[in-house]
Amino acid sequence: MTKSANLETIAAAYGVAADKAFGAVTPPIVLSSTFTFAGFDQPRAHDYSRGANPTRQMLAEALARLEGGAGAVVTATGMAAVDLVLSILRPRDLVVAPHDCYGGTYRLLAARGERKHFDVAFVDLNDDEALAAALRRRPALVLIETPSNPLMRVYDIRAIAAQAHERGAKVAVDNTFLSPALQQPVALGADFVIHSTTKYLNGHSDVVGGAVVAASETDADALSAWANIAGVTGAPFDSYLTLRGLRTLFPRIRQQQASADSVARFLERRPEVAAVHYPGLASHPGHAAASRQQSGFGAMLSFELAGGVEAVRRFVGAVQVFTLAESLGGVESLIAHPATMTHVGMAAEARRVAGIGDGLLRLSVGLEAEADLIAGLEAGFDALGGMAGG
Ligand code: PLP
Repeated sequence: MTKSANLETIAAAYGVAADKAFGAVTPPIVLSSTFTFAGFDQPRAHDYSRGANPTRQMLAEALARLEGGAGAVVTATGMAAVDLVLSILRPRDLVVAPHDCYGGTYRLLAARGERKHFDVAFVDLNDDEALAAALRRRPALVLIETPSNPLMRVYDIRAIAAQAHERGAKVAVDNTFLSPALQQPVALGADFVIHSTTKYLNGHSDVVGGAVVAASETDADALSAWANIAGVTGAPFDSYLTLRGLRTLFPRIRQQQASADSVARFLERRPEVAAVHYPGLASHPGHAAASRQQSGFGAMLSFELAGGVEAVRRFVGAVQVFTLAESLGGVESLIAHPATMTHVGMAAEARRVAGIGDGLLRLSVGLEAEADLIAGLEAGFDALGGMAGG
């Protein structure tokens, strides 16, 4: 098994050639739900797969290494990973969350807040005064999602984590949009890193899964215990596929990001586009912060069509190569309309406050040839002929 600390080597080779039973090069999948005891009162390393499974454990170890954490828990979905972090909260504890977070995260926080499982304050984390006011309430947890979904706002992890820690709060960063290939929140001060492994880590749109990496062993053990109690751990087969997807994380994201950069520059030149949200553009308000804390700008972007919802209808009906579907981070390019798809779980007023307009479209740039990606978008623009801004 590799001992290298190089992240690309960990992703490509963690667990390779480590099989003791058959000398299998590829780590075998262990589907068994239960494991033999060596004898009376002599459990082995694994007893029951809800709590511990060798295949899931291998993925968890690889993710913990990639994120620079002490341990990780692999969950059944990304939402289960978010909820696992929320399990540290008690009634009347406060969680500060971004006002423009992923719609499912918003919905979960709002629903648990309403049931009084804890209190929630949705805050614009780039508004220094609003953040300071929220931190004066001494939250137990500050949740950061950067770049944010779908507006690609960038939040300064190091600065927010330092302020949150001063007030005694733990800090969790949802790193789904970049993956550890491009951003490592633990090194910037995060206590927890959340992933929807459904996205870049698996990368092939054939698994729904999640993970939480904890910076400290104590937190990792506590989350692992709760994941077993609540029964939210991931399935071995999903873990096997995700580990297989992880092997190519770095080359995938390198190429996808190069194409995303070209797509962003293409969109910036189109008269039908009112705004392009991609942190790699010098015009993006988070460009400097992203350059500091990320090692690349990623392959997600969003843009606003000047013609509003009618332009969106025509565009998504005509666009080629980009498939109209939710999710992101796969090898295939996807286009989504946040207001009616990914962020429908957010009330219209909350979407308005977050700045998620009806003309906004989100792109997940895949591995197709760059020329085809641009041609596919051109087909969408052709369908706008004669419309306002078009
Ligand atoms: N976090 C972010 C940033 C997401 O984009 C998503 C899903 O789109 C999730 C969490 C939830 O993940 P899952 O769909 O795997 O439950």
